[in-house]
Amino acid sequence: MNNDQLSRRDLDVLWHPCTQMKDHESWPPIPIKSGQGVWLEDFDGNRYIDAISSWWVNLFGHANPRIARAISNQAQTLEHVLLAGFTHEPIIELSERLVALAPTGLSRCNYADNGSAAVEIALKMSYQYWRNTGNPKKKKFISLSNSYHGETLGALSVGQVKLYKSIYDSLLLDVIEVPSPDCFNRAAEESCRDYSERMFESMTEALEEHADEVCAVIIEPLVQCAGNMRMYDAVYLKLLRAACDQYNVHLIADEVAVGFGRTGTLFACEQAGITPDMLCLGKGITGGFLPLSVCLTTEKIYQAFYDDYETLKAFLHSHSYTGNALACAAALATLDIFAEDNIIEKNKKLAKNIYDQVAQLQDHPHVAEVRQTGMILAIELIKDKQKKIPYPWQQRLGQKVYQYGLKQGVLLRPLDSVVYLMPPYVINEDEIKKMTSTAITGIHAACQSD
Ligand SMILES: *Cc1c(COP(=O)(O)O)cnc(C)c1O
Repeated sequence: MNNDQLSRRDLDVLWHPCTQMKDHESWPPIPIKSGQGVWLEDFDGNRYIDAISSWWVNLFGHANPRIARAISNQAQTLEHVLLAGFTHEPIIELSERLVALAPTGLSRCNYADNGSAAVEIALKMSYQYWRNTGNPKKKKFISLSNSYHGETLGALSVGQVKLYKSIYDSLLLDVIEVPSPDCFNRAAEESCRDYSERMFESMTEALEEHADEVCAVIIEPLVQCAGNMRMYDAVYLKLLRAACDQYNVHLIADEVAVGFGRTGTLFACEQAGITPDMLCLGKGITGGFLPLSVCLTTEKIYQAFYDDYETLKAFLHSHSYTGNALACAAALATLDIFAEDNIIEKNKKLAKNIYDQVAQLQDHPHVAEVRQTGMILAIELIKDKQKKIPYPWQQRLGQKVYQYGLKQGVLLRPLDSVVYLMPPYVINEDEIKKMTSTAITGIHAACQSD
C-alpha cells in the first residue's frame, strides 16, 4: 500500500472532521503508517515532525513505550467495566492522584471520554447544583468572546468562535458574552497585565447585572487555544475568582487544552493561585493515546447532590465508556512520566529554546506578534502591520504555510493566519531547529507570494 492507494480508499468512505471534503481534490489526506517520538511517517516513507501534538493531545511522543506498555498490560487484565455500581483500581488511583495534583479543594472526579463531554458535565452540574440548593432562577452561563469549549450543542453554546457556531445559532443556549481579556487587542503602550485587568470591568458589569440568573462563568485559563492562540494575564483569573465568590456564581475552568503542562505549570490555574469550582481536563490526560476526560469539583458541590434517592437530587449524567480502564492506565503512565522525568522543569528550557529560534520574526513586516505562554508559541500574521489589518480569511494564508511545512517534513496546522508551535515535550534541539526554521521560511514564502 502507498499513500495514493490509501487516500483513494479513504475518500470513497470517509468524512473527515473539521474539513471541507472538496479540499481533498487538491490535497488528499495523508495516510500515516507509524509514529515515533515527535515523528509521523506516511506510507511513501515521508516523515513529518508533529509540531501541533496531533491537535494538542500528545505529550510524550507517538508510540511512547511506557504508555504503550501500561495499556497493553491493562488490556490483558481488565479492558473496561461499567462505572455505575462498579469500580476498578486504575480509576481509583487516577482519581486520588488527580485530586492530589489539582488546585486545593477539588476533591471529586466525574469522568467522560472527550473534552466537550467534560464541559457538558460542568454546565449540567452547575445548573443542577443551583436547582438542588433552591436557586431555580439560575439558568444562564457567561463566557468570553473568542472562547472555545467543544462541539456538542451545550459546549458549542458557551463557545464564541463564530466559524464553528453561527450556523447552529438557533439550536443553541442563550449565553452572555463578555469581551475577552486577550492581550493582542491592547495598545502598544499598555502592558498585558494592565489590559487584562482593565478588561475585567466588563465582567464585573455582566455579573452585577445578571448574577441572579447566572449559574457559572466558563473560561479557558490563560490561552484561548482554538481562538487563534490568544493569550491573557493571570490577573484576570484572580479577579474572576473573587468576583464569582462575591456574586455567588460558579467558576468553570476549561483546561482541556491548556492542562498538563502546556502553559508552563501542570495546570494553568496554578499561575493565578486559584481553585475553580469545576476543572475540566481532557486531551493530554492520556498522553494522547486514548480518549478520556474528567470534570473535577469541590466537596461543597458534591454534597448538594448527596441525599436519599427519592429526593431525585442525584447527577444522572453518564457515558458508556465512562472511566475506561485502558484510558486510565494510559493516564497513570502519563502522570508517572511527569513525576519521574521532571517534565515541568525541563520544559522551561525547551520553551526558551523555541522562543529564541523564532524571536527574529518580530521584525518581519507581516508578523503582528510573536507570543508565548509556556509550551505554546504563536506567530500572528497580518496583512498591514501599521494599520492592523488582518489577512482576509478567504485568502487562506495559513493553508499555504501548512502545505509548505508538509513538503519540508513539518506538520504545522495554522489557525486562520496564526502559525503556532505546540510540540510534544520530547522534542530535541535538532528537531526544534527543523520545526522553527520551517515555520520561518514557510511564513516568508506565504507572505511573499501573497
Ligand atoms: C479541544 C477542546 C475542547 C473539546 O474537547 P474534545 O475532546 O475535542 O471534545 C474543549 N475545550 C477546549 C478548551 C478545547 O481546546
